[in-house]
Amino acid sequence: MIPVDNHLHSRLCGHATGEVGAYISQAVRLGIKEVGFCDHLPLYFLPPDKMIPDYAMNEDELPGYVNMIRKLADQAPLQVKLGIEADFIPGQEEKLAAMLAPHKFDFITGSVHFIDGWGFDNPAERAEYARRDIDTIYQRYFALAQQAAQTGLFDIMAHPDLIKKFNYRPHQDPRPLYEETARVFKNAGVCVEVNSAGLRYPVQEIYPGPELLQIFFAHGLPVTLGSDAHRPEDVGAGLPQALELIRSVGYREVATFSNQQIKFVSI
Ligand code: ZN
Ligand code: FE
Ligand code: FE
Ligand code: ZN
Repeated sequence: MIPVDNHLHSRLCGHATGEVGAYISQAVRLGIKEVGFCDHLPLYFLPPDKMIPDYAMNEDELPGYVNMIRKLADQAPLQVKLGIEADFIPGQEEKLAAMLAPHKFDFITGSVHFIDGWGFDNPAERAEYARRDIDTIYQRYFALAQQAAQTGLFDIMAHPDLIKKFNYRPHQDPRPLYEETARVFKNAGVCVEVNSAGLRYPVQEIYPGPELLQIFFAHGLPVTLGSDAHRPEDVGAGLPQALELIRSVGYREVATFSNQQIKFVSI
């Protein structure tokens, strides 16, 4: 039984397909108890003429997204929560807070998809890995993830080791970096997402991997689950494996969110 899938996208972002109702139907079919839509927040950190096409909904579509998910929540035969996936860009916190403020989200998920302007998880920008030092990349990535958590703007930290997506692995032992990240996350009071999308990418591994998840558990960090589905058939995909991984490191509950308040369900 999958208690929750807190990371569903929608057509509004321009790179996901299917109607939100089809995501719901798939969740119902799989017996998932609760879903959270978590579409990409408009690119608040870019000037209007620099927008990345098909990356996120436009700013004027945000109220429509909020209303669409709220309406869906009223009608759906399972719990539907309103989330949002917001990019963290250092120095742009005020713009981010201003864009989030008018809406009552159930949860706000923070993501690091950019390292100093480099969209490191974008297949089109993959060649950049060969031009940089992999250990420096990992350090910079986790420093940004820590900084994101410390803003206090996010309830959940998405795909915590997304930097491994294309299976470029650090040469140095990453454990000190993981330990530091877990400490910072714990002090910041965030929940971490166990995201099964990594199973669908070259790394073929859940985010976070077992070593990092073990460290999160040792630091008492709560976890939630997300498939990062960008099409209805991926709702819940990989979450049985994610649950197994969570349990194997010792977790016995996962977090859900309402009105940015955390609750736990037993697993
Ligand atoms: Zn997306
Ligand atoms: Fe993401
Ligand atoms: Fe996502
Ligand atoms: Zn994502």
